[in-house]
Amino acid sequence: MKKTLCLLSIALLIACNPTEQTPADLLIKGATIIDIKTGELLEGKVIAVRADSILSVFDERDLNQYSATSEFDATGKFIIPGLWDNHVHFGGGDTLIQENKNLLPLYVTHGITAVRDAAADISPSVLQWREEIAHGKLFGPTLFTSGPKLEGFQSMWAGDIEISTVEEMNKGIDSLERMKVDFIKITDNTLKPDLYLEIIREARKRGFKTSAHIPYSLTMEQVSSAGLGTVEHGSYLLKASSTKEMELTEQIASGKVTYRDVLPEILSTITEEKAMSTYTMMAENGTAVVPTLNISFTTSYLDQQDHANDAYQRYIGKGLLKTYNWRVERAAKDDEKAIALRHATYEKTKSLLRWVQKSGIKIVAGTDAGYLNSFVYPGIALHQELQLFVEAGLKPLQALQSSIVNGPWFLEKSSKYGAIESGKFADLVVLNENPLLDIKATQKINAVILKGKVFDRKVLDHLLEEIAAKNQ
Ligand SMILES: [Zn+2]
Repeated sequence: MKKTLCLLSIALLIACNPTEQTPADLLIKGATIIDIKTGELLEGKVIAVRADSILSVFDERDLNQYSATSEFDATGKFIIPGLWDNHVHFGGGDTLIQENKNLLPLYVTHGITAVRDAAADISPSVLQWREEIAHGKLFGPTLFTSGPKLEGFQSMWAGDIEISTVEEMNKGIDSLERMKVDFIKITDNTLKPDLYLEIIREARKRGFKTSAHIPYSLTMEQVSSAGLGTVEHGSYLLKASSTKEMELTEQIASGKVTYRDVLPEILSTITEEKAMSTYTMMAENGTAVVPTLNISFTTSYLDQQDHANDAYQRYIGKGLLKTYNWRVERAAKDDEKAIALRHATYEKTKSLLRWVQKSGIKIVAGTDAGYLNSFVYPGIALHQELQLFVEAGLKPLQALQSSIVNGPWFLEKSSKYGAIESGKFADLVVLNENPLLDIKATQKINAVILKGKVFDRKVLDHLLEEIAAKNQ
């Protein structure tokens, strides 16, 4: 008896002795943790955070084994890893640098803890922000960037590295290597198709992932087997899903017709069998898709939706809002037939998403938000994108994975992002409701934790007011 008591008191001593406790900076208690890989709901767990990372996720009953300088009570809430917007832009020229910089906190207030910048015309600033954020000198989501994108000679886009020869290509990629870009973005306004394929191969050889628009004069098989990382914009899947892909691609390549000429024919010759055969090939090659449905939807339906009084515009700088006119003016030139084609193109693109998911292609959520892309507002746009994914047939869990899991997967950052587990960065979003039941719950944000720092609802609202004040 004496011996048992003695042992018991030793055990109690150890349990109560603060020197035996594991020190943490923050303990997040009471929440239901969503395992974003499986959809499993974990209750009765505590997240311990030290500095910018998750120290451990442990059972509530082991609480006395930890000591922390602060606690966050998330009772009744749901926690997911931070959201990623995997296709944004910072641009519009040097005069808009500050307005672009003001978008950084706006992303965080919407639970977006990382963004992937897909090139524009203020790359030096974006590269600088990336470093400042990484070193805690600037407040914003973790920033990954392609730096300037690769294009042909005299492309319509500003700020590109323009290349016409293999030699220029190599010099271009050399300079991107020096900038330590996170991936390489390619568009094909004036870029020759052969050189386009050569960039994909060379980039891959040098260890870079590529993200690109797809030249209409190439087949999906050609670009995917060259090693393309992501197809940016789901509309590029249309031709690839048509039984006439080969034939129409050849006609476009020979200059007999334009893509626009054959678009109605493409839309009417899409079959599940052809789509699935193309998508399976893409999945096997590891080519992912960034559908950007939100921008397609918004520009397709400009005839029906008036955005003039969108309340969210108070968070966007006046100069950036002005860049939205470009697409509005272009759409305004469309006659009734062209508008109907716009609608049909969007609806068809959206309908392909179910097959894309089924094929095993990784869907990566990105919005195209930033400048030029009218009314696809940085921050809120990603939540709308996820909603469109669910409307298109994805489960809420799959929609969440496209942002949270597949973003880091593409950039090979999964060891530090995309899950709530020991060793990952403490980038978390605390939600009032369960997003697996209704994806709209991603907008019901109670708190954002960015690299271990808590921003509760009150602070987030205060930040939003500050952002709005900057745009007065
Ligand atoms: Zn874009």
